[in-house]
Amino acid sequence: MTDLPSDRPSEQPTGPEHMTPDEFREAGRAAIDWLADFLADHRDGGHARPIVPDVAPGDVYRSLPSSPPAVGEPFTELLTDVDRLIVPATTQWQHPGFYGFFPADSSPPSILGELISAGLGVQGMMWSTSPACTELETLVLDWLVEACGLPDRFRSDGPGGGVIQDSASSASLCAVLAARDRSGGAAQLPRLRIYTSAQAHSSIEKDILVAGFAREQLRVVPTDVGFAMDADALAAMVAADEAEGLVPCLIAATVGTTSSGAVDPVARICDVAGPVGAWVHVDAAWAGSATVCPEYRHLLDGLDRVDSYCFNPHKWLLTNFDCSAFFVADSGPLLDSLSIVPEYLRNAASDAGEVIDYRDWQVPLGRRFRSLKLWFVLRSYGTDGLRAHIRAHVAATTDLADRVASNPSLEMAAPLSLGLVCFRHVDGDEASERLLATVNASGRAFLTHTRLDDRYALRVAVGGTWTTAEHVTELADLLDALVLDGP
Ligand code: PLP
Repeated sequence: MTDLPSDRPSEQPTGPEHMTPDEFREAGRAAIDWLADFLADHRDGGHARPIVPDVAPGDVYRSLPSSPPAVGEPFTELLTDVDRLIVPATTQWQHPGFYGFFPADSSPPSILGELISAGLGVQGMMWSTSPACTELETLVLDWLVEACGLPDRFRSDGPGGGVIQDSASSASLCAVLAARDRSGGAAQLPRLRIYTSAQAHSSIEKDILVAGFAREQLRVVPTDVGFAMDADALAAMVAADEAEGLVPCLIAATVGTTSSGAVDPVARICDVAGPVGAWVHVDAAWAGSATVCPEYRHLLDGLDRVDSYCFNPHKWLLTNFDCSAFFVADSGPLLDSLSIVPEYLRNAASDAGEVIDYRDWQVPLGRRFRSLKLWFVLRSYGTDGLRAHIRAHVAATTDLADRVASNPSLEMAAPLSLGLVCFRHVDGDEASERLLATVNASGRAFLTHTRLDDRYALRVAVGGTWTTAEHVTELADLLDALVLDGP
C-alpha cells in the first residue's frame, strides 16, 4: 500500500501551457515556410547544402545541451536550431544528386499527409479505435492492387488483402511467422527449412532468427549469372531436404535485389513450392513501385500463385518513409499466428467479425494512420503522375547505362535493372573504390557500393523525387571526366 503524499499542493495542478490556436498557426506557418524553402532548394538542384555532411562521430551530440530545459522555449528558437545544428549534420536523402542505397522518396502531398496524421494523433490498432484509419488503409491498398496490376487475390473482398507495415523487414517477418505456424509451428520448428537466394536482403536472415529459427535452417540458394535465384538449385535443395524428412516451410523470392536489381523467377519458384506446400513470399521492396507502369508488369509473373508480396511506396513512389505495402492471398494464417485478444481490447465490432483489426496483421499492437499520406499521394499525382515519375527515372538510367557501357575504362557489373546501374572500373577494386570516393567528394552526387562476383561495384540508384534526366546526365559527364583524367 502506498502512503498518500503529505505535501499535496494547496491548489490543483493545472498542467502545462500549450500553444494557443493562434500561436500554433504562426509556428505551423513558419515550419511549412521552412520546408517549402528546403524543397525549393532540392527542386533547383540542391545547391544550398552538401549531400553528405562534414561531421565526425559525436559532433552533433556535443553541439547540443546535455540536459533538457526546465522552462519551455519559443518555437522560433527550435526552428533556428534545426537550421543551425541539425540540418548541417543531416544527410540530404532528398537531394537530386543522392543515388545511394535505394531512394527514400518524399513529396509535398505525402509530407502534408504525415502532418495531418500526426495532428489527428490516432492509434489505429483496431477498427473500433478509429474506423477511418482502418477503412482508408483497406481502400488505398485495394487501389494499389489496381494501380500496380497485382493479382485480385490481394484485394480485400476475398480471403486476402493488404496492410501497411513500417518496413519490408517487418512484412517479411510476418510472412515467416505465418509460414512457420502453417507448417506446424513450435512442435515442428527444428524440422522446418527456409530458402532464399544468396542475393536476398539481409532482413530475411534477421527475420528467421527473430522467428526462433537457427541460422542453419536457412538454405542459401545460389544465383545464376544475372544474380537471380537458380530455380534448379532450389528444386534440388528442397528435394534433398524432403528426402531427409525435413519440411520446406518458406521460400523468400526477391524481385529487384538490393545489390543489383536482379529478379528471381517467381513462377518457377512456385512450381517448386507448390508440391511441398511451402509458403512463397516475394520481396519487391524497391522494384515493386515500377509495376505502376503496365510495361513493367512482367515483374509480376507468377505472383498469382504466391502467398505474400511486399513493396515499399516509401522507396520509389513519392511516399515518405514509413510505408511498406504487404499483401497476403489469405489472411487466415497471419491471424492464426498474430491474433491475441485480451479482455481490454474486446469490442462488439471485432467480436462480430465484421471488421478488419490490423493489429492482427503485424507484430506491434499500435499503429499510425499511414494510409493518409499514401491516399494524398495517389490522389495528388494520380496514376498518370506516378507512371511519369517512374518512366522518367528508367529512361535517364538507361541513358546512364549506355554512357557507362561505352566508356572503355568502365564496365557494367550487372545487367541494367529499371533505375539501378551497377558498374566498376576495369582496373580493379582499388580503382573502383577511388572512383566512388572521388565522385562523392565532388559534392555533386552520392553513390554507394556493393560486391558482385566478389568484386567491388559502384551502384547508382536513380529514383529521388527531385532527380531529373539533367541531373543524371551531369553524373554521366562527371564520371567521364573523372575516368578520363584518372580518378
Ligand atoms: N528488401 C529489399 C530488396 C531491399 O532493397 C530493402 C532495402 O533496401 C529491404 C528489403 C529492407 O527494406 P526496409 O528498410 O523497408 O525494411
